[in-house]
Amino acid sequence: MAGARVIRLSEETVPDLALGFTLSRKAIRRAYVRVRREDGRVLVSAPLHLPLAQIHAFIRQNQDWITTQQTQRTAPVEPDFSRLWLWGEPLMLRWQHAGKRARVQRDGNTLHCVLPEGKTDASARQALLDRVLHHALATAIEERLPGWCARTGHPLPRISIRRMRSRWGSCHITRQRVSISLALAHYPPGCLDMVLVHELTHFDERGHNAHFYQKMDAYFPDWRRWDALLRRPLDESIGLGRLGQ
Ligand SMILES: [Zn+2]
Repeated sequence: MAGARVIRLSEETVPDLALGFTLSRKAIRRAYVRVRREDGRVLVSAPLHLPLAQIHAFIRQNQDWITTQQTQRTAPVEPDFSRLWLWGEPLMLRWQHAGKRARVQRDGNTLHCVLPEGKTDASARQALLDRVLHHALATAIEERLPGWCARTGHPLPRISIRRMRSRWGSCHITRQRVSISLALAHYPPGCLDMVLVHELTHFDERGHNAHFYQKMDAYFPDWRRWDALLRRPLDESIGLGRLGQ
């Protein structure tokens, strides 16, 4: 992500609130605060020489906002097995229990999900939906990756599809391996293209520098549109948060 470089990083506490936060000192003009989505951690970026007492005061001023963010962001989301977002479109799920093997069958916008008798818990349902996502993603990558490799001039890397906590993709340059987040199958296919091109571009440029973005622009002029979609929380972008991480 773009932004000023972190000069010093420290773990701090606002004593009277007993509120812990991570402080990043940067060459910026104003302090700002955000709340990390995964765990509700308070992250503050502040100018290099802003006194700690003023940073504490700044956090106190924003205390209500922080609390709201933390409760919203860390509230457990009820599992919703009534629909599945696939490539930006909702599929209605119909659950049945029959036979010995788990399977799915698609009929228009309905996905019939069959689990064996007795396998009714949330983890069995989730495992079946993960298989659907994995299959969809693997198929789409097989179709789209060769074109992007031709475009960027790279040999086909090895791909692994995984549940990733905080990223959409990552690449291991020396091993020529790219990992792709399972959750990308929820979003429109342009988002997958964007992540594939992003990771392939890392084979040219390790860091997110100006050269990196020039190449991204050249390979995939439309990439920012899809990038913006992925930066919004999943439930805002497509209405379902549960499978986003
Ligand atoms: Zn990157």
